[in-house]
Amino acid sequence: MSARTITLDDSLYAYILEHALREPPILARLRAETAAMREANMQIAPEQGQFMALLVELIGARRTLEVGTFTGYSALCVALALPADGRVVACDISETFTAVARRYWAEAGVADKIDLHLAPAVETLERLLAEGGAGTFDFMFIDADKESYDAYYEYGLRLIRPGGLIAIDNVLWNGAVADPARDDKETAAIRALNDKVREDRRVSMSLVPIGDGLMLARRR
Ligand code: CA
Repeated sequence: MSARTITLDDSLYAYILEHALREPPILARLRAETAAMREANMQIAPEQGQFMALLVELIGARRTLEVGTFTGYSALCVALALPADGRVVACDISETFTAVARRYWAEAGVADKIDLHLAPAVETLERLLAEGGAGTFDFMFIDADKESYDAYYEYGLRLIRPGGLIAIDNVLWNGAVADPARDDKETAAIRALNDKVREDRRVSMSLVPIGDGLMLARRR
């Protein structure tokens, strides 16, 4: 028994993957292809993808936003969880990484559910607002450059509806947030956002220690 979150050693983590993961083969293949890349650590954990898909189902999401798509694993998890008329608006700047994503989205039959915007995310988010998108999204996943996290979060609060959910990745930053020796800009940005969200009365929140830490903020 434990009155605090349990530590996952390798054997316990393996147990979760073996007994509690329902990863479709196409997601497993995308994860394997991405794991062979130099930037493999930018991919979310499979249990986190499954958790986000559950969140999307729980809130009945239809319109979702993603900032930072990489090779498309998270967008594919979300797209597969959405109803047939659901949409993912995905923002990324890498043609190379998202080419992998597009290949798997097409194979999974969800390519028409995902609108990929290859541009700085702030430009895309501004355009969504200009086109009347405020309050029209149900779910947003933020997983891009950490120094812009605060900006993405603020856009999210304008673009999602009351009751909608913002999920922010890497908020434990591989433990760096709690390491006084780490004083780089990315770590500082994540610490600042974590503290801000805790005090932010516009949202209900919980920091979920899954993957590298997932901050959940539900717009009130
Ligand atoms: Ca991430």
